[in-house]
Amino acid sequence: MAGKQTFTMIKPSTFSANHTGAILKMINEAGFTLKAMKITKLSAEQAGAFYEVHKERPFYADLVQFMSSGPIVAAVLEKENAVEDYRKLIGATNPANAAEGTIRKLFAINLQENAVHGSDSDENAIIESDFFFSKTERF
Ligand code: GDP
Repeated sequence: MAGKQTFTMIKPSTFSANHTGAILKMINEAGFTLKAMKITKLSAEQAGAFYEVHKERPFYADLVQFMSSGPIVAAVLEKENAVEDYRKLIGATNPANAAEGTIRKLFAINLQENAVHGSDSDENAIIESDFFFSKTERF
């Protein structure tokens, strides 16, 4: 059974470009409810741990540097079929392949600076939400 929650981050260059409000509007209008949210800044060590699954990939060092380069918005989102529906809302990893009207199509700068993160499974949604939020920060 599909889970009801997913995890997202608004990435540094998108946050600094002041697209957070527009993206949160799209998230709410797509039927997601905010369960937790914060502005924070990852250390290189934290960004490395978050993206550890990619540590053998050639872009890992650049990705860690980018994701720790400035503040991000982290949030837990709730909706039926949350993981799959949010991946549809954000669009393909490479914005060149993202469908019209998706968050990445509208706001991504390039493949690395692709506006937002979205969990790719229910299991990772739980792991990633727990990475950022304690129980008392969730509603
Ligand atoms: P996602 O689940 O759609 O975010 O995609 P992945 O899990 O495959 O990759 C994680 C993140 O790494 C992406 O969102 C991009 O920011 C970055 N990334 C993925 N592939 C590449 C690549 O080939 N080059 C660079 N520079 N960054 C990449």
